[in-house]
Amino acid sequence: MALATFKGGIHPPDKKELSKQRSIIPAKSPKRAVIPLSQHIGAPCKPAVTIGQEVKKGEVIGSPEGFVSSPVHASVAGKVTGFIECPSATGRMVQAVVIENNETEEWTVLKDNPDYLSLSAEELRAKVKDAGIVGMGGATFPTHVKLSPPKEKPIDVVILNGAECEPYLTADYRLMIEKPQDVVGGLKVIMKIVGVTKGFIGIEANKPDAVEIMTKAVADEPNISIVTCKVMYPQGAEKMLIKACVDREVPARGLPMDCGVVCQNIGTAVAIYEAARFGKPLIERVVTVTGEGINEPKNLMVKIGTLISDVVAECGGLKDNTAKVISGGPMMGFALFTLDMPVTKGTSGILALPESEVTHVDKFGPCIRCGRCIEVCPMGLIPSMLSVTAEKGFYEDAKAYNLYDCFECGTCTYVCPSKRPIVHLVRLAKSQVKP
Ligand code: SF4
Ligand code: SF4
Repeated sequence: MALATFKGGIHPPDKKELSKQRSIIPAKSPKRAVIPLSQHIGAPCKPAVTIGQEVKKGEVIGSPEGFVSSPVHASVAGKVTGFIECPSATGRMVQAVVIENNETEEWTVLKDNPDYLSLSAEELRAKVKDAGIVGMGGATFPTHVKLSPPKEKPIDVVILNGAECEPYLTADYRLMIEKPQDVVGGLKVIMKIVGVTKGFIGIEANKPDAVEIMTKAVADEPNISIVTCKVMYPQGAEKMLIKACVDREVPARGLPMDCGVVCQNIGTAVAIYEAARFGKPLIERVVTVTGEGINEPKNLMVKIGTLISDVVAECGGLKDNTAKVISGGPMMGFALFTLDMPVTKGTSGILALPESEVTHVDKFGPCIRCGRCIEVCPMGLIPSMLSVTAEKGFYEDAKAYNLYDCFECGTCTYVCPSKRPIVHLVRLAKSQVKP
């Protein structure tokens, strides 16, 4: 049977062998946690603690401002010693709470409720909101908002994204291998919250063991199906996954809810399960630390607020030939200008690349109209024109080429023989004109 997929896309080497056999192990608890008050799309939190205050793990230290916002919790127990401005992966400076770790690992109350699925949809949604859960695939959109679709957008399907199509990253893969029942538990919570009876987990065919384990995990769940998707980047993008799993198309400039679907990432589903069952807030996450430039690739459970430099040191440090470190995957991640910044809720990976794997954007050529970018764009756009209009500063003209339908997957940039930084130019244009 043909595997589920979408039109366009590419096959970059997946490089997952560097870390896929590395089980998830806890990273060292940081001596000093630097926890940003803005780790999500939407309004930053306002501080909920004062300098000198003692806090326990899981205590709220940042309160959300508005509906599209998400609380922030202490990832270590200790004393609040200050508020600082710290860099983020996107290059912005953000306010952060600093906590000196007293190393007691003392928690606020966690309570096991094995009967969590008997809670009402409203109660479960409130647990997701209170736990500060955001999209952990990198988008960081507050999850309770995504699980509150308006009445005029009825949802009938939930899809979990187990594609993890970004090369190198193996965090979601390890969660499916090691915690399949937690993944399913999270999916069932999501299905209950949005009131649907049909759930899918889309997994790329390059993870046959994950397909097998997850298939066993849903053997007694007639409403949940595993879909094996073709290995194709960007299979894990929401619109592509929806096409592959349920053959629906999200309308231009639309959202999954416009075709009756809610998508969530695997890590987010596990966080939702832990919030629903134990009341556990999102204070740690799995981070794949990998790449040819790192000495010991690992999948680490890292407390939010741990400095990336400390995580890298725990993996044996960088090799001498490392030319670039990226937060996230190589296709959609952000190159870091310093390692002196904290891991946040959206840090799916820390990727160290040697010079041989790096393309420098200051050495690009003109568009030679080869059309390769058009062939591979999964959104059916004309990336060449997006890049040319943005390069010339004709940002308004870029809108005529559906600038805002581009979700910056990097597929076009990957194939361009002139090494044109198409995604950078798209981001530049988006920063200059409103949708
Ligand atoms: S791939 Fe590069 S050179 Fe070819 S058409 Fe697209 S932008 Fe132009
Ligand atoms: S980055 Fe944008 S233009 Fe390029 S392939 Fe992806 S969606 Fe298309």
